[in-house]
Amino acid sequence: MRVVDLLDQVRDLWAERVARRLARGESVRESFQDELRRYLDLLRHAIVSGDPAWLNEILDEWTAAQTQSERERREASLAPILGHILLSLNTVARENLNHEDALELIGAVLPIHTHAVHYSSQKETEIYVQHIAGELEQARSTLERLDTSKSDFISVAAHELRTPLTLIEGYSSMLLDNFPTDDQARERVEIMLKGIDNGIRRLREIIDDMIDVSLIDNDMLKLNYQPVWFNQLLGIVRQEIDGIITERSLNFIIEKFPGHDEMTFGDPERLYQAIWNILTNAVKYTPNEGTITVSGRRLPGFIEMTVTDTGIGIDPDVQINIFEKFGHLGDVSLHSSGKTKFKGGGPGLGLPITKGIIEAHGGTIWVESEGYDETTCPGSTFHILLPVRKESPDNKVNKLFESISGEGPAGIEQTYEEVKESIAKETSWLKK
Ligand code: ADP
Repeated sequence: MRVVDLLDQVRDLWAERVARRLARGESVRESFQDELRRYLDLLRHAIVSGDPAWLNEILDEWTAAQTQSERERREASLAPILGHILLSLNTVARENLNHEDALELIGAVLPIHTHAVHYSSQKETEIYVQHIAGELEQARSTLERLDTSKSDFISVAAHELRTPLTLIEGYSSMLLDNFPTDDQARERVEIMLKGIDNGIRRLREIIDDMIDVSLIDNDMLKLNYQPVWFNQLLGIVRQEIDGIITERSLNFIIEKFPGHDEMTFGDPERLYQAIWNILTNAVKYTPNEGTITVSGRRLPGFIEMTVTDTGIGIDPDVQINIFEKFGHLGDVSLHSSGKTKFKGGGPGLGLPITKGIIEAHGGTIWVESEGYDETTCPGSTFHILLPVRKESPDNKVNKLFESISGEGPAGIEQTYEEVKESIAKETSWLKK
């Protein structure tokens, strides 16, 4: 094959030329020249067989030899080397072959060279992607570790703070109960003690929130399933915040939505806590004289409760973050400024806890709001979707119900009817 003879004629000169261009230092040049000769031999095989894949193996080796720092700087080191190899062929062929032979040799080498450039850049990209994926994985596991240590910190800090808090709480209430009779002194110190008491209560709420968050984070939130009714829970929260609603001249409407008086199984204390968080937030983020409406609907298998306010609203960009712990810290200067004061922010744990509670019940929570604007007050609507359970997932509770009603809790409504019927039967003689 003529072209192979031509290649053999220039092979050593070509390797030497490339080595001289690229390698500094005698020993480096020699070993590089050996590598180039190997490359040119494989190139020869590729020309003879018409299969450029002969070069793949050496290109793989060269790509794999790239250093970590070259990868980090994303230096595609093979493309310029291959470029030099082709340029050197041009020079060597022109200097040592006649015009026609030089053209023939370059023409034969060019498609193989194109394959080599394409193949090596593909390999380099693959290696780079692998490298980046490795770095991402490392960053992810660092974040995971940080997240775990943050949760650990929260639970340790909360437990550590709880003990001295209980002591202060105990002594301050003992003092309040056993105070001297001198009226003036009593009044003054009583004010101070009440101040301390308020501080303690707030601190306890924060610590309890921290503990709840860490329980939720560690999937350790235990639910005490009992029969619950939305209207009852709403009634209790309403009573608790009645004073502040009057003080802030808010309209507070609880609609009798379908399902509001239907029994379902849930943890009453935890659901109360969730509803309390949503309603007090509605109070906090709605200016005086605004309106808060509780409504909802019955869906197959679920009750959906909505809390709509005419407050400052929530930017769509942060609507997911507010359910993450410390996800939306807002203006730090407003933190702990009040539970019900307008815009009185807390530590930002209320919604993550609420979400944890609702999800632990197998439900879901989300918010809708056109955006955040303190002047136009577009308002927000929080949706709580809770599955209707006619029996407790907790077997102990079911057994208890069985022993009380003689039937499973699934039949609780019929049992009530039966009880009414039997009472009617037992008392029928009275009517006679
Ligand atoms: P915080 O203790 O700060 O109130 P939450 O977790 O209860 O913490 O709420 C997180 C954030 O969500 C609040 O700081 C506030 O920015 C926003 N938010 C919650 N409810 C409302 C609402 N009804 N209207 C406007 N913003 C709200």
